[in-house]
Amino acid sequence: MNESLFNKLRILSDAAKYDVSCVSSGVERKNKTVGGIGNASSAGICHAWSSDGRCISLLKILLTNDCIYDCSYCLNRVTNNTERATFTPEEVAELTIQFYRRNYIEGLFLSSAVEKSPDHTMENIYKVLELLRYKYNFWGYVHVKVIPGADPILVQKAGMLADRMSVNIELPTEKSLRTLAPQKKIENIIKPMSVINNEITRTIEDKKFFRSTPRFVPGGQSTQMIIGATPDSDKTILGLSQNLYGRFNMKRVFFSAYIPVISSPNLPAISTMPPLLREHRLYQADWLMRFYYFNCEELFTETDQNLDLDFDPKMMYALRNLNRFPLEINKAPYEELLRIPGLGVKSAQKIVRERKNAQLSYDSLKKMRTVLKRAKYFITVKGKYYGNVKFDPEIIKTELRRMEVQQQLSIYDLI
Ligand code: SF4
Repeated sequence: MNESLFNKLRILSDAAKYDVSCVSSGVERKNKTVGGIGNASSAGICHAWSSDGRCISLLKILLTNDCIYDCSYCLNRVTNNTERATFTPEEVAELTIQFYRRNYIEGLFLSSAVEKSPDHTMENIYKVLELLRYKYNFWGYVHVKVIPGADPILVQKAGMLADRMSVNIELPTEKSLRTLAPQKKIENIIKPMSVINNEITRTIEDKKFFRSTPRFVPGGQSTQMIIGATPDSDKTILGLSQNLYGRFNMKRVFFSAYIPVISSPNLPAISTMPPLLREHRLYQADWLMRFYYFNCEELFTETDQNLDLDFDPKMMYALRNLNRFPLEINKAPYEELLRIPGLGVKSAQKIVRERKNAQLSYDSLKKMRTVLKRAKYFITVKGKYYGNVKFDPEIIKTELRRMEVQQQLSIYDLI
């Protein structure tokens, strides 16, 4: 690799590290092209994590960091004095192939700043896809970002060649977007999301009648939201996520704890730590909404519009709604079992299956390897309550905290 290309790679891979929406799961597309290389079946894609915990399973780069926009939170903003670089589409395609052949990567995650105009940038992203698929016959996983404001035709063309696409929603409200990223218009973000969703639906329908219909973005679309750069509450953030899942069939909404790298009067101070625990709680709540039948509203109260940092969202829900507990393990419907803190989908399914044969006892739950450490405060088994403290939210909280401390101390004992 020549020095100038290496330099571009250094700058543009470093600039891409703040993008977290790069998971590559959920694609099942085998390479059927004669002589083609790469394979996007889910088993063929491995994930790796960088030292700061972000997913870098793919060659993760920006096409350019030479941006015409001025988003307050971004190092690449036009008014920031940073080192700039721009790949040509041919350079990105060639790098991907070289890295793939050396077994460094399984695929490509390509994002970009807005160079010259949204259309110009999206056109170049499309060219990368075209080169990879048709010149190099590479059918491995490729995730590309959509540049808000780009012509929908370009989005459509790119979507026929990409495995996953994402349009960053960036911030939780329009007001926050106006304050921190005034050149990004909400309608320019929503429109491509809608185009992608419509095309995915259309090609799935067409495929029922014409087997040869190519799939549009088979890995679906995702988006990313910055957390903690604005005063928006967790309820606002999760309410928006819920809408995005419902309206655009999002595969994932990613939360990115705001990392203060640049100073601005509109932003938290540089010395502020990224709100990583908050990000973690948001992912837990997002999981509850997607797989545990929770609604965003249920996770908050009039006065608590943010998730608790001491207890996970399911535990907080149970403690605030003790009137709905304890649940009798032998009778509670599946959806209610899922609301018991500490009980996962697999355990709930097993309970429903096993109780058809015989009434479950506390011992039989243990034999089934159901984790009861926290669940025992919220259930009865054959009518009996097994919690070792009074059925009261504050007393249960104190007991859970005590257990936590004890567990930490016992870890030190092992050292
Ligand atoms: S559009 Fe905004 S967030 Fe994206 S690279 Fe440019 S300045 Fe950064």
